[in-house]
Amino acid sequence: MTQSRFVLSRNFSRSTTYDQVDGRKTNPLADADSSSSSERERTSNIAKSGEKPPTNEPFVKNLFVGKFDTKMLIFPEILTKDEVEELNQLVEPVEKFFTQQLDSAAIDRNSKIPEEVFQQLKEFGLFGQIIPMEYGGLGFSATQLARMAEVTTLDPSIYVTLGAHQAIGLKGILLQGTDQQKAKYLPKLATGEHIAAFCLTESGSGSDAASIKTHATLSEDGKTYFLNGEKLWISNGGIAEIMTVFAKTKVTKPTVRCIVICFLSPAFYCFFFYL
Ligand SMILES: Cc1cc2nc3c(=O)[nH]c(=O)nc-3n(C[C@H](O)[C@H](O)[C@H](O)COP(=O)(O)OP(=O)(O)OC[C@H]3O[C@@H](n4cnc5c(N)ncnc54)[C@H](O)[C@@H]3O)c2cc1C
Repeated sequence: MTQSRFVLSRNFSRSTTYDQVDGRKTNPLADADSSSSSERERTSNIAKSGEKPPTNEPFVKNLFVGKFDTKMLIFPEILTKDEVEELNQLVEPVEKFFTQQLDSAAIDRNSKIPEEVFQQLKEFGLFGQIIPMEYGGLGFSATQLARMAEVTTLDPSIYVTLGAHQAIGLKGILLQGTDQQKAKYLPKLATGEHIAAFCLTESGSGSDAASIKTHATLSEDGKTYFLNGEKLWISNGGIAEIMTVFAKTKVTKPTVRCIVICFLSPAFYCFFFYL
């Protein structure tokens, strides 16, 4: 596991590809919101008609009598026979590598994942598991990812490296990136040529993300951001090329608390999420 503590004090020029995204407009949770509002509408209509609402059997109570209501859960998605076979073909060599070749004790002893191990992980495509195939990733669903994780978790250091890279480090680009940004960043992240990190925690801020002190200040000419602050416990912090850094910007409206997420890379991109 490669973690690092580092102090940020940099300024970044806006490139012509600078972008701003309103998290509320593109938030994937919006779909969940609209489905829950139609659910509320349906419930209200049933109440008005005097009809008895449908009831489910108690989910947790049923677990104790061996009944498992899979309809209650989003996962696992059902894979087709072909998908299962294809997944097994991908998992098999990875499992062999993790159980027969990998020296996890040496990784712990040396606090370092050897370069040849990194190379093998890249060849398996493990840095691109959740990245769509069009960008060179494996395009895994949550079920496929979970199956592969049964193997990659055999070495916790490797799992944290892969997890920080894709579950958090590059997730902002996947969820909120423009097509142009995805095309620019995702292919190299999928192959592992670029490693991603997610920089949120600070010495005075852990679970309470809103209390971060790192701030990004726009210069008077509006061309440059000055990023100042300190981050720690950043998985992949010492090896990442792409970092998603959480920083606060100046609050312009009293009702809005603004956190800016910056992608640090050769060209600087910025996403704003208004909270
Ligand atoms: C292996 C590892 C990898 C990590 N990688 C990263 C990384 O890549 N990037 C990154 O930014 N950070 C990373 N972290 C840091 C991690 O995100 C923080 O440790 C985490 O956010 C918790 O913060 P904290 O340790 O300051 O604990 P605190 O926030 O100080 O919490 C201390 C305790 O209080 C409890 N607590 C906190 N708030 C409440 C509340 N409101 N109500 C009840 N209980 C509460 C917590 O559950 C916890 O038990 C990593 C940590 C580990 C262990």
